[in-house]
Amino acid sequence: MLDNLTQRLAKVVKTMRGQARLTEDNISEMLREVRLALLEADVALPVVKDFIAKVREKAVGQDVIGSLTPGQALVGVVHRELTELMGGAQATLNLATQPPAIILMAGLQGAGKTTTVGKLAKMLREKQKKKVLTVSCDVYRPAAIDQLQAVSQQAGAEFFPSTVAQKPIDIANAAIDHARRHYFDVLLVDTAGRLAIDEAMMEEIKALHAAVKPIETLFVVDAMLGQDAVNTARAFNEALPLTGVVLTKLDGDARGGAALSVRHVTGKPIKFTGVGEKLTGLDEFYPDRMASRILG
Ligand code: GDP
Repeated sequence: MLDNLTQRLAKVVKTMRGQARLTEDNISEMLREVRLALLEADVALPVVKDFIAKVREKAVGQDVIGSLTPGQALVGVVHRELTELMGGAQATLNLATQPPAIILMAGLQGAGKTTTVGKLAKMLREKQKKKVLTVSCDVYRPAAIDQLQAVSQQAGAEFFPSTVAQKPIDIANAAIDHARRHYFDVLLVDTAGRLAIDEAMMEEIKALHAAVKPIETLFVVDAMLGQDAVNTARAFNEALPLTGVVLTKLDGDARGGAALSVRHVTGKPIKFTGVGEKLTGLDEFYPDRMASRILG
């Protein structure tokens, strides 16, 4: 087991107990430990560098109050800064539009999009009493359409059928029409992902986005991707006006560094985290808890 950051810093700063201020000198060595801790938590390197620079700026000259050691004071600064960078307060879904509120899911294959549609459908139905319709625009994998049908059924949401012979935009338009005519509050649109970033996929989802004009465009990303989450996030953020992020598979041993990286690269709030394969495994995102997880 790795020591947590507080313990690691305590080792570094044994010699500087009693110093009343965080100075360039006493924090340099500690910042090396912070940098290592962030890299171990899978935060991407360029993000770590920016972050350390910010913390250095904030920390230098701060008084070490009361019984705190310089290490504890620095952990406090790091924790606050991480929390702030990940959005400070919690971000929620925006459904304030003429119904149906359309939510478009984007992300690589395997990220957890279909599962997340099921989870969101369940949450919106049970907690907000919304009438929810789902549709799959994945015309490459018939199994993906069947999977969405199964999770929608489990979630108690209505599923709008589609086939691989149709065009994604036609499917989406037909689903919107159905949702309007039957007074659905929310339409969740699942999309095709590829195994890696791919131009054709990006063009398709851009066109789909332009056609359906969703109020929420959620980028779904696997927290286990770690350092690679950055490239994926950058590509989707450049292609689409994302409104939020869902970070999945946080029930595994991912340390959560992807949360900071994705937030840094996209500037978009993380709205939910996936914490299991079951449809109950969706949590709202709490930046302060994630900061603690990243710091170990
Ligand atoms: P999609 O290709 O983006 O639609 O991804 P899927 O929804 O099919 O998910 C891919 C795999 O990841 C499936 O086996 C899911 O059960 C699993 N999965 C999705 N979200 C989570 C999560 O939060 N935790 C865990 N452990 N597994 C997840």
